[in-house]
Amino acid sequence: MGSPLRIAIDGPAASGKSTLGKRLASALGYLYFDTGVMYRAVALAALRRHIPAEDADRLTDLAANLQIDVRPPSKDDGRDYDVLLNGEDVTWEIRRPDVDAIVSVVASHPGVREVLTRKQREIGERGRVVMVGRDIGTVVMPDADLKIYLDASPEERARRRYLQRLGRGERASFEHILEAVRERDRLDHGRAVAPLRPAQDAIVLDSSELNAEQVFQRALALVRGYAKSSD
Ligand code: C5P
Repeated sequence: MGSPLRIAIDGPAASGKSTLGKRLASALGYLYFDTGVMYRAVALAALRRHIPAEDADRLTDLAANLQIDVRPPSKDDGRDYDVLLNGEDVTWEIRRPDVDAIVSVVASHPGVREVLTRKQREIGERGRVVMVGRDIGTVVMPDADLKIYLDASPEERARRRYLQRLGRGERASFEHILEAVRERDRLDHGRAVAPLRPAQDAIVLDSSELNAEQVFQRALALVRGYAKSSD
């Protein structure tokens, strides 16, 4: 019977999760939901309010009181969706390097994770979703129908991020990006709550030597394999 209704894609920073998630969701006619934008929105709000990234209590409070919405794109400027923070369009602001620098610390606080995980589960429960993040297969949707863990070497991931930034006309240093990718890996893998790791039943895809099309084709084969096995 049919395709997997809930697909979880996890993996480290810049492993190609969003590219894959978007394409899969559009091929299946599902909702694409990138959970990283929620952690980024909380990090941006913290920067604006001068709340230190280490202040777990104030950040938990902040996360609980923010209105974070993800909507279909309102502009044709390369965005895949609008991210609204209390109604304000912050789609590009949440990608700033100063947000990158603190987001993993913000995401390490159990209270912040609890608030955001609850919101993500609500979306997951509706089904027909491709949800992308770090802990989707392990914590947010442990009973997802298909779990993919997308990996790639830090150098390859930094190279992709570097090219993305240049493509957007931004200045970028490969060395700095590589350092930031390594630091985020360290924090995401090492945190006490919901650390980044493949779920036991996840299928691990290493994309270091694959282009976006090849990754997509492999994932699509997994979706078709699921459909067959549930016939
Ligand atoms: O995926 P993205 O790079 O936008 O995520 C930003 C940060 O948010 C990650 O480095 C991670 O620390 C955190 N995150 C998380 N759990 C998720 C999604 C993102 O901890 N499900």
